[in-house]
Amino acid sequence: MSPTDLVARLTALVGADRVSIDPARLKEAARDLTEIRGTPPDVIVRPGEVAHVQAVLRFANAGKIPVVPVVMNTNIGGLALPSRGGILLDMTAMNRILEVHPEDLYMVIEPGVLFGQVKEHLDRNFPQTRFAYSLSPPETSVLANTLMDGLLNLSLRYGTSSTWLNGVEAVLADGTIVRTGAAGWSTTQWCTSSPMPDLTGLFVNLHGTTGIVTKASVRLQQAKRLRRRYFMMGYDVRAACALVRDFVREDICDDIGILTWPVAKMLFGELRPTWREPGEPLVMTYVDVTSNRQAEMDLRESILAEVLETSRKSGARWEGPLDVRDLIKIEPAFRKLAEFPTRLDFMLDHPGGGLSWVGTYGPTSRWEEATELSCRIMVEHGFPPIAVARPMAQGHFGVLRLIETFNRDKPEEVEAVAKLNKALVEALLPMGFIPYKTPEWVFREHGSKIDPGFREMLRRVRTALDPNGIMNPGKWPV
Ligand SMILES: Cc1cc2nc3c(=O)[nH]c(=O)nc-3n(C[C@H](O)[C@H](O)[C@H](O)COP(=O)(O)OP(=O)(O)OC[C@H]3O[C@@H](n4cnc5c(N)ncnc54)[C@H](O)[C@@H]3O)c2cc1C
Repeated sequence: MSPTDLVARLTALVGADRVSIDPARLKEAARDLTEIRGTPPDVIVRPGEVAHVQAVLRFANAGKIPVVPVVMNTNIGGLALPSRGGILLDMTAMNRILEVHPEDLYMVIEPGVLFGQVKEHLDRNFPQTRFAYSLSPPETSVLANTLMDGLLNLSLRYGTSSTWLNGVEAVLADGTIVRTGAAGWSTTQWCTSSPMPDLTGLFVNLHGTTGIVTKASVRLQQAKRLRRRYFMMGYDVRAACALVRDFVREDICDDIGILTWPVAKMLFGELRPTWREPGEPLVMTYVDVTSNRQAEMDLRESILAEVLETSRKSGARWEGPLDVRDLIKIEPAFRKLAEFPTRLDFMLDHPGGGLSWVGTYGPTSRWEEATELSCRIMVEHGFPPIAVARPMAQGHFGVLRLIETFNRDKPEEVEAVAKLNKALVEALLPMGFIPYKTPEWVFREHGSKIDPGFREMLRRVRTALDPNGIMNPGKWPV
């Protein structure tokens, strides 16, 4: 079909103001923050309602035209970059918080709803509830995050973000609307996925290859009146990993994480630090403690001090715990690590604006060796050893993320990042650290190691839901 015909047909379905072939936008849509490149879409469509999504999918399915959904394109995996052109479905206009149920602790949102928007809405209208936040900028999608099983600041306590989903409404490739979770049966509540068979999983970690999600019911949590964030500066990665596991066992924190030394230097303005003074801390460990009662807060904080003291007695050197409010007085840049959602501008606002990583979920018991090995590989490739480790779901597994900033306009830097990421995945996958928000190139390199039965089942599911293979082709290739 010629571009003119394509635009004419789509315009007839959704209106001219929702269809764009602006060459600059098409070109920009073929790249994201990372080193990965896609193919420019032929057209961008911005649906405003579910009926628009249905109409576009029916049309695309009949003509076997690829459809790629996107909100803000910050997934750091090339997951919303078209690989075969087609229609880029920009979901930003479907941005309503449709319902909030403070008693039953859930909200119903559209895909274009952003973290900053949720925070503002809940703080203003439902202060008895709270949601959780990613470290992505406030203007990124909550729903896209849940579909990618993202990590939030309450994921230690309540699990990664897909576990917060009570269900979704999705449009399949042929235009059929499906609802999962309680809304698959009830028209009066969507507060649970139970006791329905868990078909929500058909849309999680699959990057839009099974359907376009148009609504989701997402859990809220009870708000806590008191919250403290403490930092501890340490000099030993092994001691930091052990300390975090000990904190998790005590069940006193909402969130805990380890950040290696270059993060602190970048926070204070260094672009890409590769040198650390021998006396400077090697890691920053942070913990969040919350409660509704001062007495409980005091108890949690005294346990925290006790665990830290035990670590010191076993030979580890720690500074702190330092209250982030005091750190902000000394160095205002710490504000970026104090409140959520936040904008980590030191990762984003630099020449060429490139940001990439290998992010994995794996066993916290192997963090030490995996972190040390990864940092060594990063240094060997000429990059600062930026590592972040955070336990998830009460410590059942953990995040290990190795981060690079680079100049996207310099081919040699793009190539160096691609090479480094490849080396990191090669080292981490055999240790049980599985790349999340999995980029296409990881499947190309390592897909053959996926269990054959799993691949076959996924192929059958994908073929059943999308027989013409139009949905975000190339992602999770089967
Ligand atoms: C500095 C920085 C820090 C970050 N920190 C975190 C973090 O702490 N935790 C974390 O989890 N992530 C993090 N991220 C990654 C990312 O920004 C978040 O996960 C964010 O929520 C993604 O939102 P988005 O609007 O950019 O989604 P997009 O990138 O637009 O979409 C993500 C995926 O969802 C698919 N998709 C979009 N809409 C739909 C739909 N309606 N139906 C089906 N599929 C759809 C897309 O095709 C794509 O595969 C970070 C990113 C940056 C830049």
